[in-house]
Amino acid sequence: MIVKPKFRGFICTTAHPEGCATKVQEQINYVKAQNKIEGPKKVLVIGASTGYGLASRITASFGAGASTIGVFFERPASGKRTATAGWYNTVTFEEAAAQEGLYAKSINGDAFSDEIKQQTIDLIKQDLGQVDLVVYSLASPVRVHPKTGEKFNSVIKPIGEAFSNKTVDFHNGEISEITINPATEEEIQHTIAVMGGEDWHFWMQALQEAGVLAKGAKTVAYSYIGPKVTQPIYRDGTIGKAKNDLEQTAKTIQAELKSLDGSAYVSINKALVTQASSAIPIVPLYISLLYRVMKEQNLHEGCIEQMYRLFDDRLYAAETPVDEEGRIRLDDWEMKAEVQDQISKLWSQLTTENLSDLSDIEGYRKEFFQLFGFDQSEVDYDAEVDVVKSIPSIV
Ligand code: NAD
Repeated sequence: MIVKPKFRGFICTTAHPEGCATKVQEQINYVKAQNKIEGPKKVLVIGASTGYGLASRITASFGAGASTIGVFFERPASGKRTATAGWYNTVTFEEAAAQEGLYAKSINGDAFSDEIKQQTIDLIKQDLGQVDLVVYSLASPVRVHPKTGEKFNSVIKPIGEAFSNKTVDFHNGEISEITINPATEEEIQHTIAVMGGEDWHFWMQALQEAGVLAKGAKTVAYSYIGPKVTQPIYRDGTIGKAKNDLEQTAKTIQAELKSLDGSAYVSINKALVTQASSAIPIVPLYISLLYRVMKEQNLHEGCIEQMYRLFDDRLYAAETPVDEEGRIRLDDWEMKAEVQDQISKLWSQLTTENLSDLSDIEGYRKEFFQLFGFDQSEVDYDAEVDVVKSIPSIV
C-alpha cells in the first residue's frame, strides 16, 4: 500500500510504518548515546505506545536495561486501514529490545478495565515476579468505569465563564479568535473521572494486593501546569481539575506504599506535540511559540530528552527534588522567566501574516506529522509499503 496522511479534524487516520520506525529508532539512539542510568529493573508502563509513555519505556529499557511490560490501546492494520502509530511504534520498540536481549512484552486493551489489570498482573507474575517502577501515562477522551459500567467523556473547557483567545489551524497557518463556553458541573466531573487519579489508584491497589510490587517500588504519573495564556483552558479548566485530582492521588498512593517503602510521584512535564496535546485549543499556538523560544535559547527538549532527564536527574538521582506540593518539575526550563517573558511579548503580536516569522509553526507541523510516521526525510512516501506488522509479543 502507498500510505499518505489523511485527516479527520486534528486526528490523522493513517500511519506510516517506516516513518514510525524511524522516529522510535531516533529516540532509542538518543538514549543509548547518554550515560547509563542506575535505575529500575522491571517496569510497567501504562500508556506505553506514544508520547511520554513510549519515551519512558524507551528510557527504562535502553537507558537502564530494564525489562518492560507496556499497556496501551492501539489498532492493528486491517483491510485498507493502516495500523495506528502506537502499534507501529511498539513493533519497532519490541524488535529493537529483542536485538539487545531486553525483555519487552505488551498488552493491547482498555487499561481502565479490570480485565486488562488482571491480565497485566498475571503476566508480571508469570515473567517478572514483581515490578519496581510503574509509569502511568494514559491520555484518553473516554473511560468506562470498571465498577459501575458508566461511560465518561472528558472535555477541554474553561470553568465559570467563557474564554476567548487566539488559536491556530496548523494545517493552513490561520490564526483566529476562539471562544470556548464554560463546562457544566457534569462535564467537570466526567473529565475528572477520565483524566483524574482514580484509575491510577485502582492500578496501584490491584498491583499491591496481588503482591507484584517490589520493595521500594516507585510510581509516577504525568501532569502539566503551563503559563498564564493557557491557564483558563488548561490548569483552571476541566483538565486542570482532573490534574489536581491526579496530584492529590499521588499522596494517597504514597501513604499506601509506605509498607513497601515505596514512593508515588507526579511529574509536571513540558508542553510538547503529542496526539493528546494537539486536541486542546490554543495550546498548539502556544507550543509553536514555546518551540521557537526554547530552540533559540538552546533549551528545547522533546519527549525522549524529558524522560531521560526524569529518570537520570530526578527519579533515580541520589535525591529526587520536588516543589512545595511534592511534584517533580520537568517544566523548569519551559517556565523560566526569560522563556515566558519572550512568549508573552510575541503572543500579543501574532497574526496569520507573521506566524511563520514569529513562531516555529513549521516545527510544530513537522512534529505533528512525524507522530504518525510522516515527514521523515529518509522515507520514500511514494513507495509501496507492507502495512501489516505484528507486535512480536502479541499473537
Ligand atoms: P499520548 O496521546 O501520546 O499517549 C497516550 C497513551 O495512552 C497511548 O499509549 C495510548 O495508547 C494510551 N491509551 C489511551 N487510552 C487508553 C486506554 N483506554 N487503555 C490503554 N491505553 C490507553 O499522550 P501524552 O501527551 O504522552 O500524554 C501522557 C500523559 O502526559 C497525560 O497524562 C498527559 O496529560 C501528560 N502530559 C502531556 C503533556 C503534553 O504536552 N503532551 C505535557 C505534560 C503532561
